[in-house]
Amino acid sequence: MEDLSAITTALSNRQPTDPMPVLFVGHGSPMNAIQDTPFSVTWNVLGSYLPRPTAILCISAHWLTDGDTRVSVTDSPETTHDFSGFPYRLFDQRYPAPGAPELARQVMGLITTRQIVADDTWGLDHGAWSVLIRMFPAADIPVFQLSLDYRMPPQDHFQMARALSSLRDAGVLIVGSGNLVHNLWVMRSDGPPYDWAEEFDRKITAFIDRGEDDAVADFRSLGDLAKQAHPTWDHFLPVLYVLAQRRPTDTVRYFSTGFDLASISMRSLLLV
Ligand code: ZN
Repeated sequence: MEDLSAITTALSNRQPTDPMPVLFVGHGSPMNAIQDTPFSVTWNVLGSYLPRPTAILCISAHWLTDGDTRVSVTDSPETTHDFSGFPYRLFDQRYPAPGAPELARQVMGLITTRQIVADDTWGLDHGAWSVLIRMFPAADIPVFQLSLDYRMPPQDHFQMARALSSLRDAGVLIVGSGNLVHNLWVMRSDGPPYDWAEEFDRKITAFIDRGEDDAVADFRSLGDLAKQAHPTWDHFLPVLYVLAQRRPTDTVRYFSTGFDLASISMRSLLLV
């Protein structure tokens, strides 16, 4: 079991008036929802230490839109099983949390740099529910999602996400769900992580540690290394929404800093 004492201490020392922490979770395989893995067990523990949010806004790698940004405004989002080739019992899972349509519409007003589209069709994709089912198993906290416009440059995601800052003061937990390295083409079930995977993970972590969030958003300038780590960059974008919430009073705390299947970084972080 991972040593989470630095994180649990930081969470225990929070004042009630402190802004809500912000989470980036490397979600990896949907099987984490139903299997006890080092990752899913960590999510269980974290959930028991996190302050209870008024609502959860999830920015998941699995809600990609083409040319617009959407926010889910459904009252009771369906659990979406947006994967194939997994056991039946994974398809039986439900995460029956209520939606947060009023708050979602407030978010549309917060983001003034582009028009946000209200979407009543999207439920909860597995980037959201496979983590939340572990972290908040009672499913009694309202959840809504913001989509990722895949046509928008990463830097623009980062800039746009800054407009969400006040949500922390309203007790909303912002959860980015993706992976800092995510290459499904070369996964392997044995052997150590690839050198390029570790190198990309290390470089991004160094940027984050130095407060160089612009460099994180500009990850494509790492060239071939970035292409190896992210043949498509859907799983990288969510961390930009998390870093955009960073305040001078925050400390970045990492957890689940290992790799899964040699090419998926599970490195996760908490701003607290
Ligand atoms: Zn994923």
